[in-house]
Amino acid sequence: MKRLLTILIAAAIGGSALAQKTYIQCGRLIDGVSDKERKSVTIVVEGKKIVEIKDGYVNGKSSDSLIDLKYKTVMPGFIDCHVHLEMQFSKTSFADGFREKDADIAFQSAVYAKRTLLAGFTTVRDLGGSGVNISLRNAINRGVTVGPNILTAGRAISATGGHMDPSVGLRDDAMRKTPGPEEGVADGREECVKAVRYQFKAGANLIKIASTGGVLDLSTEGSGAEFTVDEIKAIVETAKDYGMPVACHAHGAEGIKRAILGGATSIEHGTFMDDEGMTLMKSHNVWYVPTLTAGRSVGDSSKVPGYFTPVVAAKAAVVGPTIQKTFARAYKAGVKIAFGTDAGVYPHGMNALEFRFMTEGGMPPMEAIKCATMNAADLLGIKEERGSIEAGKMADIVAVAGDPLQDIKVLSTMGFVMKEGKVYLR
Ligand SMILES: [Zn+2]
Repeated sequence: MKRLLTILIAAAIGGSALAQKTYIQCGRLIDGVSDKERKSVTIVVEGKKIVEIKDGYVNGKSSDSLIDLKYKTVMPGFIDCHVHLEMQFSKTSFADGFREKDADIAFQSAVYAKRTLLAGFTTVRDLGGSGVNISLRNAINRGVTVGPNILTAGRAISATGGHMDPSVGLRDDAMRKTPGPEEGVADGREECVKAVRYQFKAGANLIKIASTGGVLDLSTEGSGAEFTVDEIKAIVETAKDYGMPVACHAHGAEGIKRAILGGATSIEHGTFMDDEGMTLMKSHNVWYVPTLTAGRSVGDSSKVPGYFTPVVAAKAAVVGPTIQKTFARAYKAGVKIAFGTDAGVYPHGMNALEFRFMTEGGMPPMEAIKCATMNAADLLGIKEERGSIEAGKMADIVAVAGDPLQDIKVLSTMGFVMKEGKVYLR
């Protein structure tokens, strides 16, 4: 009776005094901030947030819940800064593009989103699709479907004939209308401004552009520059009006430099980045998102006869091995690096492969983990809320068996996933 009375009083004053906490006992903790791991600590979670980190294994009250991760390595939820949740590339992708409706894409993307979350990626930046990714983000935020916290570019923007021009390689009458700013194809300042505003109107969090050709489009040129510095500046300035950063897909050295000079926030892929480009990256404080997994994946697929059309296969065979070498050079040169994989180019849920390729490129495991936690949160502009295990941050927490600092491959077998205080994998 007395307890019931206490409950009623607490409920009357807002209920916070009786809110249930979760105590997570961690054998090893890599918090995303410190260069050193901690042993035997307890993370206290209340609601969606981390409220305290205590030394040793601590229990709460009987009404609190306990999660035993004493035999695991606990880390902040991983962040992948380059995914495409709407698609997963396969031999039939080009033809599928003519058959699939938005609803087909939506159902499929919900599956990819869940797979990504269960692989330990609690936040992703979606760098472009048809715009279904905006609805997917909203559905996840509303709790309609399960997936990571998503920041999305909506539809990506490029020049006529550029990487994101959906009519490249097709006969003239294959599309109902010539793609324009609304479809993410823009030339000249005026159209570039308009294309950004369309994405803002659609509900994008950021802008994605391409300043060079790409591998998986049907153009013969995969690395030539495709926007002028002036066009990129128009995009960046307009995006800034809405608080949106600009991520830029770029393979060739010239397009990389133009993107940096135009004010892009991050360079994606950066395959043929030269020394001058790396110096510019540092002086302009631009992030590099390497996407090594995509490079490897398309490189491998290019060896399978008939997997790609000949024009794509030729580009894929060169880009794959080059990205990894560029990553190694950029890391040595001191370029800021954030974790991004281009998931969708390879199967969703295998995002942690990137850690392996990063360490093969000479980056120590602790730094690779920081690229996927604090660095990524910094690039995405969410480091006040996510990216580390600290009091006040969102309770985005993952754990694996084994020690990733000794064997980075253990990150590919996820053992525990909590997003915003809710457990999704245990
Ligand atoms: Zn991409």
